Amino acid sequence: AQARAAHAQHMQALGQIAGGVAHEFNNLLQAVQGGARLIEKRAADPAGVRKFAGVVLKSSERGAVITERLLSFARRSSFRPERIEPAAMLDALRDVLAHTLGGQVATRIELQPVLPAVTADRADLQTALINLATNARDAMPEGGTLTLAATADRVEAETSRPAALRPGRYVRFAVSDEGIGMDAETLARASEPFFTTKPVGSGTGLGLSMAKGFAEQSGGGLAIESAPGCGTTVTLWLPVAEGDGGTAERRRVLRESPAA
Ligand code: ADP
Repeated sequence: AQARAAHAQHMQALGQIAGGVAHEFNNLLQAVQGGARLIEKRAADPAGVRKFAGVVLKSSERGAVITERLLSFARRSSFRPERIEPAAMLDALRDVLAHTLGGQVATRIELQPVLPAVTADRADLQTALINLATNARDAMPEGGTLTLAATADRVEAETSRPAALRPGRYVRFAVSDEGIGMDAETLARASEPFFTTKPVGSGTGLGLSMAKGFAEQSGGGLAIESAPGCGTTVTLWLPVAEGDGGTAERRRVLRESPAA
């Protein structure tokens, strides 16, 4: 039943992303058509031709990045939740992060001494954390410290704040930076698919939306705290694995609590 629910959620996320892709592709095709039309008109003007050929190239390159992302998401029909030990996972991620982020920022990983295991798709979790870390680096062009912290968290009551989380036990992965932060409009739209403030070619606007989709698909959630000039913290909650006080404990608590 759990696998079926995960599959349904995956299909729903895929549908949402496909809708976004269609919209984005329309915009790109308009840019390509406009560029091509101008090239046709200005065949005698080499500088003009070069400029609009550049527009066509940039737009089609962005199109290729988007289809690549969509395909890699769609291919994962095998959304495979497994038991993950946060400490070991983050340890393995250390090298990948150092390689991906370059030397511009200092990375600090803070782990609570005893952390329960979580249930999630390992590759998706790594991708999500790498995307969040890349955003943190991009927000600190002058350098700074990126902190990745993992702590256990318990949600007592149904809550929509800061993320829509069901009562239960979670591990909270928080990626913080000391960067430029977001203004209110950016914050409100940051996790929409294809929303980006980055220059064409460097941002796809899919990092946060996919991290959020992944967290929710796993039974967790994502929240963003940010203010201009004050840095950003993106928090990802994942449910604690059964047997580590996750679902099983939740059931026991429900059974043992006196009927209201
Ligand atoms: P992308 O990074 O490709 O733009 P994302 O979905 O990851 O796509 O992010 C969307 C937007 O949210 C970014 O373009 C940026 O404006 C904002 N954003 C995301 N993370 C951060 C951060 N750590 N600091 C400041 N702004 C951020």
